Amino acid sequence: MKLKILVTAGDGIGPEVTNEAVGVLREVADLGGHTLEIDSRRIGGVAIVNDGTPLPSDTLDAALASDAVFLGAVGGNEFNSLPPDKRPEAGLLQLRAALGGFANLRPAFAFKELAVNSPLRPEIVADADILFVRELLGGLYFGEPRKWNRETGEAWNTMRYTRDEVKRVARIAFKLASRRRKKLTSVDKANVLEVSQLWRATVNDVAAEFPEVTVEHQYVDAMSMHLMNQPRNYDVVLTENLFGDILSDESAVITGSLGMLPSATIGGKVNLYEPVHGSAPDIAGKGLANPLGAILTAALILRHSAGLEAEAAAIEASVRKVLEQGYRTSDLARSNPQGFEVLSTAEMGEKVRETVKLQLLAPSR
Ligand code: NAD
Repeated sequence: MKLKILVTAGDGIGPEVTNEAVGVLREVADLGGHTLEIDSRRIGGVAIVNDGTPLPSDTLDAALASDAVFLGAVGGNEFNSLPPDKRPEAGLLQLRAALGGFANLRPAFAFKELAVNSPLRPEIVADADILFVRELLGGLYFGEPRKWNRETGEAWNTMRYTRDEVKRVARIAFKLASRRRKKLTSVDKANVLEVSQLWRATVNDVAAEFPEVTVEHQYVDAMSMHLMNQPRNYDVVLTENLFGDILSDESAVITGSLGMLPSATIGGKVNLYEPVHGSAPDIAGKGLANPLGAILTAALILRHSAGLEAEAAAIEASVRKVLEQGYRTSDLARSNPQGFEVLSTAEMGEKVRETVKLQLLAPSR
């Protein structure tokens, strides 16, 4: 297998965490005899400083020519006074638009070793394993007309979807559910919104193509409560852009640390993979960053862009194992007086690499 990955490490802790995750990918590739071609380009603040723009054209060209783009994080306090379209985050938005992914996958799962880090009770979060599929290119964030009319003191946005936009993201969600626990929960507000009625009818049409998957519908207000009360009830959760933005952030509490969360945006020209966290300027350059979110993102690259499910699962199992063995980065050890061994970013990366090697050489360990 040959995979061409563009790494855009970006700013702050981006380079630190992607470096560890790329190390894990290299280890997996070496062990499996796969060819990994890694190219690195600038994005965000580092590109503003060096190239005068947050998304240099060589970065965009390299992204479009790759099989997958792996982004670290962008942003830094020194750029906060720039106008929005000149800031590091503009580079990421432009990249997302150019790659065209419409299905944003955000896993939210509980590691039992980290249950103490979640504000929810351990017996509530134990074994929760949810995959959010959020529609990313439509809905209220992109619908026209939109305007703030300062003269009349009125403003409006439009939540708009076409049947085809719903169908394409629903198919991805059903396909993923069919490979997991075969349950799909579609979230809408069909008791009030016509756009949600279209959403629900279309999801039901697509459901007929996947008879093995059980489908249920939830209203978004009720869902926001169920997720916190019974997160274990959910497998794949499919929803539109705004609802997905809110619910996936809410569900981050299941995992207990921002540093643990991966994401993937698929369905466009090239898939984009990024840990959920930002550039964390407060801890950048200190070896304090948790690289596990980036490492779990690397697992998503193997699963969704390389079809290497066993290798992706081995990375996920290795992260679990390392936590079981009592290793933590400082964000995870914060609320835990149990004397766990606190590792730097690089030490945690090394631990996962060693464990992945053992997993792949002797998977039953
Ligand atoms: P952030 O995610 O960078 O940090 C929030 C808090 O979580 C901080 O205390 C940070 O130290 C901690 N944290 C985050 N990731 C961590 C990790 N891997 N290990 C340990 N601790 C971690 O969010 P923020 O502080 O709101 O934003 C900082 C900058 O990042 C801003 O410029 C923002 O625009 C940018 N940002 C970028 C992205 C992205 O690139 N996708 C996403 C969010 C924020």
